Amino acid sequence: MALSLPASPHAGAAAVAWSPLVINAARCKGCELCIAACSAGVLTLDPTTVNALGYHPVMVVAAEKCTGDAFCARVCPDAVFTVFAPRKEAS
Ligand code: SF4
Repeated sequence: MALSLPASPHAGAAAVAWSPLVINAARCKGCELCIAACSAGVLTLDPTTVNALGYHPVMVVAAEKCTGDAFCARVCPDAVFTVFAPRKEAS
């Protein structure tokens, strides 16, 4: 009897572009604290989306500028962010 591996749950899934941040947009209340805290200009509110709470949620607009400092995650009162960007060393 041959054994076989179970099918991958990701089989057939479309590739997703890498982002330094994962944003739980459903929790965002659009307060813009994270936008003010990000000196790199990575974030803005998404004017094309309204979440179930009735707010325009934050979105990434310049992923390549993210330094991974995680200030956005530190100031967000609703724990919207997961940060994956590596920390860059100061020169
Ligand atoms: S700080 Fe949090 S709740 Fe406020 S806009 Fe940013 S992600 Fe949304």
